[in-house]
Amino acid sequence: MNKSKRVKILSVPVDMVNADEAMEIFKELMEEQECSESSLIVTPNSEIIVNAAKDKELKELIESAQLIIPDGIGIVYASKIMGIPLKERVTGIDFLEQIIAYLEKTGQSIYFLGSKPAIEAKEEGQEARASVAEMAALEILKKYPDLKIAGTHHGYFKESEESDVVEKINNSGADFLCVALGSPKQEKFVNKYKDRLNVKAAIGVGGSLDVWAGTLKRAPEFYQKNGLEWLYRLIQEPSRYKRMMALPLFMIKVILSKFTGGKK
Ligand code: UDP
Repeated sequence: MNKSKRVKILSVPVDMVNADEAMEIFKELMEEQECSESSLIVTPNSEIIVNAAKDKELKELIESAQLIIPDGIGIVYASKIMGIPLKERVTGIDFLEQIIAYLEKTGQSIYFLGSKPAIEAKEEGQEARASVAEMAALEILKKYPDLKIAGTHHGYFKESEESDVVEKINNSGADFLCVALGSPKQEKFVNKYKDRLNVKAAIGVGGSLDVWAGTLKRAPEFYQKNGLEWLYRLIQEPSRYKRMMALPLFMIKVILSKFTGGKK
């Protein structure tokens, strides 16, 4: 059970954990024996926290998540402004890699759900078609050759097809589910089916499969170290500028909440 302290950033809880502590909680979730539903791991950033203020379902599912890791640099700054500093930023993509290493070591399997269906993949002069999830799986296997990949499925399915997708995941016998449908879709999918899914736990990972597959570049170290990944993403995908307005809005709300004692 997760016994870590939770801090509230604009009324949304976040676990006060560093990467090692988050990993310990994850291992406990995977070792829990009789558990009727899949555990949910969420990775909030500023945008998710701003959205949770307007989306009751999202806020409630974060509150009920078994592990809430501080993914965004904005959250870490906010916690400092509020005088309840989080230990460090734990990025979803780095945490996922730690999970993969653990699953490989313990012989447990993973299912990759999400991202684009078939994209052109040129291999040795021949045209091959593979989904982003399949390409990501191949790249991951190069680094973690003993990892058991139970299956993959793209993330562009209709609501009427959700049951079939859940069935496929269950039939694969996967122990762990990695969902890349973007937020809040990925978290809502897991929350909706947590009673039916047989996986022990699931995490929402946004664009991580694209990064593994090579269809999206991760920000170079300079941007990562200086908390400027959002800027790098904006340069790659200028159409995201509207979504990124959430970051300054988030900071303004945090500063206001400090002066109003959290009432804003
Ligand atoms: N995606 C998906 N199904 C959808 C919408 C998005 O599989 O209906 C995938 C998309 O292809 C991408 C991932 O979700 O691989 C993350 O999308 P985005 O970058 O918008 O999410 P964020 O991490 O910013 O929340």
